[in-house]
Amino acid sequence: MKTKTNKPARLRKGLGILFLLMALLGSLVWTVLFRINRFSLSVTTVGDSVVEIEYGGRFEEPGVTVSLHGTRFWKTGIPVSGAKLTMEGQVDEAVLGRYTLVYHASWMGLSAQTERKVCIVDTQSPVIRLTEPPDGFWDGRGSFQEPGFSAVDNYDGDITDQVRILHEPGLVTYSVTDRCGNPASVQRKIPVFDREPPVIELTGGQNLTIGVGKPYTEPGFRAEDAVDGDLTAQVLAEGTVDWLRPGMYDITYSVSDAQGNAASVTRQVEVVAQPRPETQWPQEKTIYLTFDDGPGPHTRRLLDVLDRWNVKATFFVTGFGDTELMKQIVERGHSIGIHTVTHDYETIYSSPEAYFDDLYRMQEIIYAATGVRTTLMRFPGGSSNEVSCALSPGIMTTLTQAVQDAGFQYFDWNVDSDDAGRARDAKTVFENVTEGLAQTRVAMVLQHDIHGYSVDAVEQIIAWGLDRGYAFRPLNEHSPGFHHQVNN
Ligand code: ZN
Repeated sequence: MKTKTNKPARLRKGLGILFLLMALLGSLVWTVLFRINRFSLSVTTVGDSVVEIEYGGRFEEPGVTVSLHGTRFWKTGIPVSGAKLTMEGQVDEAVLGRYTLVYHASWMGLSAQTERKVCIVDTQSPVIRLTEPPDGFWDGRGSFQEPGFSAVDNYDGDITDQVRILHEPGLVTYSVTDRCGNPASVQRKIPVFDREPPVIELTGGQNLTIGVGKPYTEPGFRAEDAVDGDLTAQVLAEGTVDWLRPGMYDITYSVSDAQGNAASVTRQVEVVAQPRPETQWPQEKTIYLTFDDGPGPHTRRLLDVLDRWNVKATFFVTGFGDTELMKQIVERGHSIGIHTVTHDYETIYSSPEAYFDDLYRMQEIIYAATGVRTTLMRFPGGSSNEVSCALSPGIMTTLTQAVQDAGFQYFDWNVDSDDAGRARDAKTVFENVTEGLAQTRVAMVLQHDIHGYSVDAVEQIIAWGLDRGYAFRPLNEHSPGFHHQVNN
């Protein structure tokens, strides 16, 4: 009996212990799972979290996945099915913009959310279409006329009225930009409508006047075409100016633009001669003493002799001469004239340009030394020289006229002392001069004051002349030139 009554009691007791153990075990599992290994839920977008869709395309929702994560177990997560999912937000594919979709998930009291950005974009440029003109469209037209065009954008639609048009010669450029900044540009080739010839502008004007003896140099020009731009380099200048001979000279400048429109301008250059001073022959018996190639070492002595006799002479000076002596010559009442800077025949008679260059340089040297801008001159070798024949045929014929047209007076001689030739002592010089003087009423005597023996003869020559009633005079622009016959 006792055993019988104890059996259910023992069973109850055993079950109670079992419950107690299970409760303890459950508590342990709970502690392990939920305290040590904390759970969390995550929701992840399938595909990219930022999606860009070109306008006109469709957005297909790719969905999300839900995972359970633990801090100790299932760290990488295990998929959960049966979670409750909701989504906020929507995408309007017809409107450009940035849309946000928010996904919520909940399961077993845990929750999570994530986002996806969806951009509806327009990266397509508008399309500009040009209407092709029919054959013969441009014929007979003097200016551009629009054959027509259109511009259509995938998003903005017809934007023809926003097209900007740029006109250039032979080309029209159509450009437009859609609202999203996508540009488009097309060009149309057109005939060049250029009926205007270029314009030629002459520096210094269409009428120029220069004096004989000043070499003519092109003063410059410019040619501009409305379409082709600067055409200066293509200008053809025709015609020459003979700056050695008085006259009217035409220079014609011509140029054509790419369309064949021609322009032509003429410049008229007048080369003017200075009036020639009237020659006045002296009434009385006259001797013009002239000394070339100085001033030199004997010039001061010569000046003293002339002073002593109160006789005035003429000095045709060179670039080698002492400028202080040039000043003395002028200050003591004598005439000064140009001979040459270099006395180098090969240089000065190589061309008219070279001759005039030497002439003007010597004129400047004298002017700087004395303040006198002399126009009196003597050609090296005289106007009858033949040394220039081989150097420049005909140059003396040209120069003898040109120097006078340029305002100079050149002087040769009719009495030669021959002091640069065979006369090498004062006696011979004196004889040569007086022999010449005896045959003429008005005499131009050639001597060189660089030779002492020639200067030595001067006093005797003066005495001889005065004895016979001659007056000694310096040259001026009206004095006779005693021009030789030109041989070249
Ligand atoms: Zn000389």
